[in-house]
Amino acid sequence: MNRLRVLDAVREHGAMTQVEIATATGLSAATVSNLVKELDGAGAVLLRPSIRNGRRATQVSVATARGLLATAVFGDRDVRVAVAAASDEVVAQKRMPLPADHHADEGTDRAARLVHELVEGAGQEMSGLRALVVGLPAPIDTVSGHVGSDGILPGWRGTDVAAAMSDAVRVPVALDNTANLAALGEFKHGALQGVSTGMFVKVSYGAGAGLIIGGELFRGSAGTAGEIGHVTIDENGPVCRCGNRGCLDTFVGASPVLAALRPTHGGLTLRDVITRALDGDPGCRRVLQDSGRHLGVALAGVVTMLNPEVIAIGGQVARLGDLLLGPVRESVERCAIPSAAASVEIRVGELPPDEADVRGGLVLAEQLRDEADRAALSTG
Ligand SMILES: [Zn+2]
Repeated sequence: MNRLRVLDAVREHGAMTQVEIATATGLSAATVSNLVKELDGAGAVLLRPSIRNGRRATQVSVATARGLLATAVFGDRDVRVAVAAASDEVVAQKRMPLPADHHADEGTDRAARLVHELVEGAGQEMSGLRALVVGLPAPIDTVSGHVGSDGILPGWRGTDVAAAMSDAVRVPVALDNTANLAALGEFKHGALQGVSTGMFVKVSYGAGAGLIIGGELFRGSAGTAGEIGHVTIDENGPVCRCGNRGCLDTFVGASPVLAALRPTHGGLTLRDVITRALDGDPGCRRVLQDSGRHLGVALAGVVTMLNPEVIAIGGQVARLGDLLLGPVRESVERCAIPSAAASVEIRVGELPPDEADVRGGLVLAEQLRDEADRAALSTG
């Protein structure tokens, strides 16, 4: 246990002298010295001579030769793969397009090939890979490990993605929803840093959210918490791809926005609509502001229920800034209980839209590697 305390202190603060470790952990200098010797013997730390306050001291840091991490994050039409030494030390990354109605095995094959390519391109062996995290833009049932809704990502129905990927890359694989991964990325490296109760909402083709509760990612009892895109905001509204009526996704995703503009603006992409809105096009501005108001209604429910400190909005619409945040805030102020509405800060995410989930995937992969190292240390 004390070895883990020393290792945690070095992980948290970076390189430290043994005196500093003793102060941080409350352990005696003699104990720290013995523990550092043991950790060095186990290859868990690196020791370097240094000078502190004019005296010779040994600087202790976490061994960097702890192996590589990888993440493969799927979108509706692409997969992005990153290989890293730590969640903030990306070694290589690459994006590859996928057909819109692709099947799971096509997606996992391509992702596995990309992982091999990137690891070998970085001059490393596949045996140096320690963990892979796969992100999917769909609810994941943590009990079965399958996609938790029939209407979303139909080509992936019934596939045990973690097992398929684990066969292909031969390392422990974890599977999570991309909104959860993005929330984790923003929590460790972006707009939700230091937040105890917060939420990340991604709005692009649909809306998805990841919740941070008590300083940890909250997945719910079966792993599908945060599916805000399928919260009902109009019982009699349009039929959603999930089979219900009037889900938030039928008001804020790309399809309703593009459909509203088709008669006047013709066929646009969501990217076009956002660019035109920023250039001052009144129709595009109006439709996106309406989206913001609807999003605010759904978020007001979350604000009333969870009383979060921060809600960060990411995805393509984050480029809109206050053009979107203004109507979101108005709806939250109108619909949430005043004390909770007054204490929540609604801002845009800090990480680029297609980076937050990849960073979060690496954060989770790092956690898997740390757990494996802890298990090895406590038995070794
Ligand atoms: Zn729905």
